[in-house]
Amino acid sequence: MSEIPNYLRKGYITPDELFSIIPKPSEERLRQRPVAVPECPQRIPCTPCKEICPTGAIKMENPNDIPIVDYEKCIGCSLCVQVCPGLAFFMIQYIGDKARITLPHELLPLPRRGEEVVLLNRIGEEVGKGRVIAVVPRERTKGDTPIVTVEVPIELAWDVRAIKVVRE
Ligand code: SF4
Ligand code: SF4
Repeated sequence: MSEIPNYLRKGYITPDELFSIIPKPSEERLRQRPVAVPECPQRIPCTPCKEICPTGAIKMENPNDIPIVDYEKCIGCSLCVQVCPGLAFFMIQYIGDKARITLPHELLPLPRRGEEVVLLNRIGEEVGKGRVIAVVPRERTKGDTPIVTVEVPIELAWDVRAIKVVRE
């Protein structure tokens, strides 16, 4: 029987672990336009991301495979982020010294455009603050989860995977 990878044992994946199993988009590509990156390392029978992708950018030979994105074919439409039931797809774009991260956000309240929010890493630790660039409420997505685009310092691009809305 094959050994269970460390990221499945501990329940979250680090960027180094992620990019040992999928390719990382080049900096040049990250600066062109948003690119979708799946953080879905477990072999489970699930294909909504592949089925909704309008350009065929998501490769899965069979439903148990992990999704691999052809970053050149990805047009940054965010549909995979909207429909993924595992909240496992994100979009990233580098702009100057900032990164824009599009992520699913299931908690209430929904942030407002322009609002400053707390940035959380994959284990829920606060790592900084960012500004909300766009919000797509659930009724305007193809899935059940609102999506939010937040601008963060570029050095946090591969750490921030959730946000927290804090209002007085
Ligand atoms: S963002 Fe759109 S084009 Fe890119 S992988 Fe997701 S569904 Fe496909
Ligand atoms: S829809 Fe989400 S959970 Fe399902 S295979 Fe795609 S990335 Fe993984």
